[in-house]
Amino acid sequence: MKDNTTHFLLKTIELILTPEEAANDTLTRKCIESVINDSHFEYQIIKRSIDARNNQIKINLKVNLYFSEPVPNRIIPKVYPNVSDKPKVNIIGFGPAGMFAALKLIENELCPVIIERGKDVRSRRRDLAAITKNQIVDENSNYCFGEGGAGTYSDGKLYTRSKKRGDVDEILATLIQHGADENILIDAHPHIGTNKLPRVVQAIRETILKSGGKIHFKTKMVDFIIENNTLIGITDQNGLNYFAENTILATGHSARDVFYLLHNKKINIESKPFAIGVRVEHQQSLINKIQYGRNSANDLLPPASYKLVHQTKNHGVFSFCMCPGGIIAPCATAPGEIVTNGWSPSKRNNTFSNSGIVVTINPDDLIEYKQYGSLAGLKFQETIEKKAFKAGKNDEKNNFGQIAPAQRLTDFLKNKTSTSLPECSYNPGLISAPIHQLFPKNITEALQEGFKEFGKKMYGFLSEDAIIVAVESRTSSPVKIPRHRETLEHIEIKGFYPSGEGAGFAGGIVSAAIDGQNCAIEISKKYTPKS
Ligand SMILES: Cc1cc2nc3c(=O)[nH]c(=O)nc-3n(C[C@H](O)[C@H](O)[C@H](O)COP(=O)(O)OP(=O)(O)OC[C@H]3O[C@@H](n4cnc5c(N)ncnc54)[C@H](O)[C@@H]3O)c2cc1C
Repeated sequence: MKDNTTHFLLKTIELILTPEEAANDTLTRKCIESVINDSHFEYQIIKRSIDARNNQIKINLKVNLYFSEPVPNRIIPKVYPNVSDKPKVNIIGFGPAGMFAALKLIENELCPVIIERGKDVRSRRRDLAAITKNQIVDENSNYCFGEGGAGTYSDGKLYTRSKKRGDVDEILATLIQHGADENILIDAHPHIGTNKLPRVVQAIRETILKSGGKIHFKTKMVDFIIENNTLIGITDQNGLNYFAENTILATGHSARDVFYLLHNKKINIESKPFAIGVRVEHQQSLINKIQYGRNSANDLLPPASYKLVHQTKNHGVFSFCMCPGGIIAPCATAPGEIVTNGWSPSKRNNTFSNSGIVVTINPDDLIEYKQYGSLAGLKFQETIEKKAFKAGKNDEKNNFGQIAPAQRLTDFLKNKTSTSLPECSYNPGLISAPIHQLFPKNITEALQEGFKEFGKKMYGFLSEDAIIVAVESRTSSPVKIPRHRETLEHIEIKGFYPSGEGAGFAGGIVSAAIDGQNCAIEISKKYTPKS
């Protein structure tokens, strides 16, 4: 996907520039000239990162230099063949895992048939507005369900810990081919932004349809058709069957009904570590001040972010999905529960910054839920989300409302209910509530210890105006669907490929996309004649 044709590339150099030099082409060229003692070159930035560790903020650039030739295109667009008459592969769920599985199947001359419970991006937007305005959560169309999955109305941070750069670059290049900005291939911590993601998702849909793939929106998988330990098809809510030799299950970590279905059908699933906590929000200007010091007002610097980790005696506490210039989003997938997450637009220009601050949940924390076996974590998660709904003083009789419990961070640390709340970006509304009583005592204590340590690392973090909103519970799947390491097929059921975050093999947009692709590659091998 990347342009690998030979160009007269003399060398790759690394530069350390001021924000002003990095933002201005003429100044950047001058810096390069002074390094190579030559002015006859073209350059292409291949990596960019910010070093904000000192008062003197630096921009690190890695640059390719070309002589006597224009710079090459960053990517060569993939060509997707028509696959309408090729063998069909079912994909359940059209999130990053499902989308990238579909694209890879098409590349490998197989025909994806996608079943997605939610609506297309445009119709889905109306349901998101209804959560905020009318306090109504549609169980099939919300911040987690619908075209593009949980990634569509997210921050679109594309950073991943995946070690295989080739795979990551392929995902980024595919996003660029479908309309994302080329900078995502350059920036050390790339992101797209909620305002731009839906267009990219829509373009991916168009590629799939143009190639002969099928997408069924508002179609929920409700049953697996299994014969002789082989998954031969699936059934939707209208009783329609979709038969295929292979099925990728990419339903994400919020599709609890899918986990219950697997459990009831006695298909092997396992419980898996996950994390739970709160979303904390500060003024972005405060975070800029903490991170950039006297450079905090420099417009050339992006809104600052942070990543925090602390280990207590029994638990890890860490920041999750930090959204500079963002909004706290109501991410419940059913009425009667409160779930937070965060998003930000491409410019990250909202007044607030937010992040999840969460505690790892160990098997010892789930003793009360032991009777639920592999679903213990899921039951715990569900219980806390319902408690948050109740703490929000929502209408329990009718499961109506999305008011979230909130507390000043400083009051949470003192186990004190707040008498007033600072301004906050969570739009459905907040109510002051004792969040310190929402979690089991040891989880609250771990959160409090973590926050206190973060206050030492980032002076000002424990500000009077910092607010916490509960509950940040969907950080990762509490369930794993085990599969063979090599073939990626389920360990018991043939033709069944659990994929993405819901299956426990990804944690974010890029890793879910890579996992979807990998499942598609393994399925494709079954159709490739062995030489
Ligand atoms: C608000 C928000 C912000 C986020 N920000 C970021 C970020 O900045 N960066 C990042 O890397 N990650 C972010 N994430 C997480 C990221 O979105 C997920 O990790 C990723 O989307 C997981 O991909 P997936 O394909 O495995 O599952 P999902 O994206 O969850 O997709 C699953 C799909 O399956 C569908 N489905 C479920 N059940 C059924 C069924 N029975 N039948 C048919 N279809 C079904 C759902 O409707 C959904 O579309 C964010 C998530 C949220 C909610």
